[in-house]
Amino acid sequence: MTAVRPDLLARVVERGHRRAQEGLLRRLRTLDAVDGAAIHIGGRRLLNFASNDYLGLAQHPALIEALARAARAGGVGAKAAHLLGGHREEHAALEAALARWTGRERALLFSTGYMANLGAMSALLDAHDLCVQDKLNHASLLDGARLAGCELKRYPHADVDAAQRQLDSRPAAAALLATDGVFSMDGDVAPLPALAALCKTHGATLMVDDAHGLGVLGPDGAGSVAAVGLAQDDVPVLMATLGKALGVAGAFVAGSAALIDGLVQNARTYIYTTAMPPALAAATCAAIDIARFEGWRRDRLRRLIAHFRHGAAARGIALIDSHTPIQPVLVGDSAAALALSARLEALGFYVPAVRPPTVPPGKARLRLTLSALHAESDVEQVLQALDAARA
Ligand SMILES: *Cc1c(COP(=O)(O)O)cnc(C)c1O
Repeated sequence: MTAVRPDLLARVVERGHRRAQEGLLRRLRTLDAVDGAAIHIGGRRLLNFASNDYLGLAQHPALIEALARAARAGGVGAKAAHLLGGHREEHAALEAALARWTGRERALLFSTGYMANLGAMSALLDAHDLCVQDKLNHASLLDGARLAGCELKRYPHADVDAAQRQLDSRPAAAALLATDGVFSMDGDVAPLPALAALCKTHGATLMVDDAHGLGVLGPDGAGSVAAVGLAQDDVPVLMATLGKALGVAGAFVAGSAALIDGLVQNARTYIYTTAMPPALAAATCAAIDIARFEGWRRDRLRRLIAHFRHGAAARGIALIDSHTPIQPVLVGDSAAALALSARLEALGFYVPAVRPPTVPPGKARLRLTLSALHAESDVEQVLQALDAARA
C-alpha cells in the first residue's frame, strides 16, 4: 500500500497559515500586572474594558486573606478527586452557600465551567436523546451535547417558537433545552420565562448557564434565573461559573438532591479530576458574602452601564440591546474590528476584538465589558476614545 498518511502537525500549521491569511489569527499576550481597572502590558498602562470581574472582587483583600488563611491551614492542592479523599470542609461550605444563594436544594462544584457543562450534559443525555440549544450558546454547551452523542438542534437566537418546533420534531425523545442566561458575546438575556413555560408544556428539562448573570442580576445578585423569579422546578439544571463576577475560578451545578446525586454518580468531569484547591473554595465563600450583601457594587454597575449606553447613543456608536456589563460595539468586518481595537490601545484602552468563529461571520465586534471598578470618568474617556478611533 502506498497511501500517503496526512501529517497532523503539518496540517495544524497549514490551518494556522490560513487563519493568518484571513486575518483571524488569535494572539496570546502576557500582562505585566493587573491593578484594579487597569492592566500593564508591553510597558504601558491601559484601562481594561475586557475583564469579567464585574463586581471588582478578584483583587479584594477579603478574598486574598481567605485564600491565604486556608492555604496556610490546609495547603494548596486538594491532593485527590472529591470522591477519593479530596473533598474538604471548604468545598462543603461553598456548595452549601451556593445552594442557599441560588435557592436550590444542593450544589456541586466543578473545576471549571467548561467541565461543569460537559459533565452535567453527558451525565443527563444519551445518544437517542434530543438537545435543543440557542445558536449563540457558549462553546462548552455545544461540546457538552457533542460529548453526550445526542442529537443537537440549534435554534435562531432567542427564538422560542423555533425551539418549540425543534422539540415538536421529536415528541417522544427525552429532551434538554440548554441556554446561556446572559449571552457571553452579546450581553442580552435569554427569554427565560417563555423557555421555562415551553419546557413545562413539552416535558423537556431546562438547563441555564448563568456564567455572566450570577452576581450581576437578580435579588442579591442571585442571577438571571432569580431575576425573573424562576424556581428549581422551572429551571431544574442551573450552572454558573465562579471565575467571572465572583473573581475566583471554578463552577457549579445547582438543583435538586436527585440531580446532584445523579451527577456525583455519572458526571465524568466531576469524578475523574482533582478537586479544586480548597483555598479557592474558601476565597469564593468570601466573594459570595460580598457579592450578596454589597448591593452598591451592582448599583454602581447599573449606573456605569446606563452612562455608557447613553453616551454611545449620543455619539451614534452601534451597540446591541444589552443591559448587562457586556456591551459589545458592533463593527462587522474582522480587519476593521482589529484596527479599531489597536487604535484604542494606542489611546490607552484595552478593548479586544472578537471575530469569527467566536461570533458569527460578519459580526466582528469589540467585546467591551464594564466593572464596578470603573469610575464614571473611565466610561466617559472610553466613549471619547471610541468616537475618535472610529473616525
Ligand atoms: C466562561 C463561560 C463558561 C466557561 O467557564 P470557565 O469556568 O471559564 O471554564 C461557560 N459558559 C459561559 C456562558 C461562559 O461565559
